[in-house]
Amino acid sequence: MPEAAATPIPVRAAEDIIRAGRRMDERGWVPATAGNISVRFAPGRIAITRSGGHKGFLNAFSVIEVDLDGRAVTQGARPSAETLLHCQIYRAFPDAGAVLHGHSVANTVLSLDTPGPAIGFTGYEVQKIFAGQTTHTATLHLPLFDNDQDMTRLASAVAPHLPHVAMGYLIRGHGIYIWGPDMETALARLEGAEFLLACALERRKR
Ligand SMILES: [Zn+2]
Repeated sequence: MPEAAATPIPVRAAEDIIRAGRRMDERGWVPATAGNISVRFAPGRIAITRSGGHKGFLNAFSVIEVDLDGRAVTQGARPSAETLLHCQIYRAFPDAGAVLHGHSVANTVLSLDTPGPAIGFTGYEVQKIFAGQTTHTATLHLPLFDNDQDMTRLASAVAPHLPHVAMGYLIRGHGIYIWGPDMETALARLEGAEFLLACALERRKR
């Protein structure tokens, strides 16, 4: 186990995570103990939700520190298995400052009902909230990966696609991963992605 950190998790980082949990809970994106939320508050230092626990009722104790390999820095803490996927994003994108993972109805249903490698979105104004998107006429792809309880294997399946990801990715029957340079941007992107998924689900009902 790595050495305990010399300085504690900043209050601001813990508060960002607690507030994001409340927001995701209000929208129905983290049922039961689903989801996890993290922030990179300094180079190589990640604050992330502890394994288990409802994300709508987080407090400072619910937030632990891990290193970039997903190992607990907080003494006696057990990180969630999915911590590895957060760390993979922080390693791949040096400008990523916050990562969100949620299990909404729309992302779960659509990921199970879409046989292809991605869900495409075209014609939606909200596409422009994603980095590099300037027009609704482009097609934005949300890649899909099969669920796997072995996180190392799942991370290996995601790895080759990660550099080309424009908005985040979906794990079938499981949930979404979205990130941004800070928590505010990550939350806006998650809200945009969930809006697009809710619209797509609505259109399939017709
Ligand atoms: Zn999950």
